Amino acid sequence: MKINFHKSDLITINVDECRAKSFAQIFCCNIGSFPIKYLGVPLHYDKLRRKDLQPLIDKIIKGISGWLGRYLTFKGKIVLLCACIVSIPAYLMAFVKFPKWAINAINSQMAHFLWGNMGDQHKFHLAKWGLVSRKKDFGGLGIPNIRDYNMALLASWGKIFFMNNSGDWKNVITYKYDVNCPNIFWTRTKFGSPFWKSVSWALQASTNFYHWKIGNGANISFWHDVWAGECSLKVSFWKLFDICNQQECVVGQVWDGITLRLSFRRCVDHSGLSDWGMLINHIKNYPLSDSTDTPVWDLESKGIYSVKSFYKCINFGGVVSPFGHSLWKTLCPQKIHVFLWLCLYNKSLTRDNVAKRIIIEDKSCLFCSEDESIQHLFLECVNSSLI
Ligand SMILES: [Zn+2]
Repeated sequence: MKINFHKSDLITINVDECRAKSFAQIFCCNIGSFPIKYLGVPLHYDKLRRKDLQPLIDKIIKGISGWLGRYLTFKGKIVLLCACIVSIPAYLMAFVKFPKWAINAINSQMAHFLWGNMGDQHKFHLAKWGLVSRKKDFGGLGIPNIRDYNMALLASWGKIFFMNNSGDWKNVITYKYDVNCPNIFWTRTKFGSPFWKSVSWALQASTNFYHWKIGNGANISFWHDVWAGECSLKVSFWKLFDICNQQECVVGQVWDGITLRLSFRRCVDHSGLSDWGMLINHIKNYPLSDSTDTPVWDLESKGIYSVKSFYKCINFGGVVSPFGHSLWKTLCPQKIHVFLWLCLYNKSLTRDNVAKRIIIEDKSCLFCSEDESIQHLFLECVNSSLI
């Protein structure tokens, strides 16, 4: 193997131009500049600018716009979006936190494809993208939510970090970001490379779904991490945490399995004393050992992080759909599934919904004089009930 210097670029950091030129002459190659592409990922010592990311986003958008939506059914479009859309940028999403403008651009192109906008022909977007990009279990159409996938993919670096016992990259991260103080979830996010900031953003969101199996207590934050019971001790014993002098301590520093060495800013009252007794009794159930502390992922039975489980959790809109997946399992033609879904959320283009978008003079039902709505057509209209 020989290095082809004519095809290589010399990229320098903090080196003046004259020296860079002389180095380039020695190696007989050109002087390059950041960002460079390495294994398909744009690399830069600074934040990636819009013009650096734009070609990659354009490529994704071009992929979607190339699909011929007019020859597909609505259900077919959903299947195509679900099957293909995440796989195109997935690799990049595991390294780069997509900025808002990029996510909006991809979402907008997906929405145009789904609702059938072609060239100058404009069709109504019947439902908000937030609803459309929710999982079917939670009442959406199951189209991938790019932002949520981005977060779930970036958070998987936590799993890679915990599963690798050694490795140069782990040593670099450990040294540079002080990840043992007390653990990777509490590292400084204001400093560091854009990549590390992206990973920290995702890891902080995933912290809530980890609990710690205690070993020697060196990597567990006494108050902030969940290691004794279902929630962190600062939540269970807020009054004590509030006046504690060692709010950022690790378990091993203050707890040896028998004595709890904490001090407080002021004297505790009667209820504080009873809390103190309860706290000691509570943590006595979690004895220390010589092994290292292990994080356990709460959303998987095996306790190991998975992108799927985290995506499902952050994609949950807060309200469980009463129909959930059952609507899509009903034995009927596929287009009826979509129609039922639109009716369920009152998104079908009945005249009351059309009137919200354009001015129409006649809002009345075709069969009677009442205003036309989903409720009226399917439940209240005397004439349509006879059909
Ligand atoms: Zn009617």
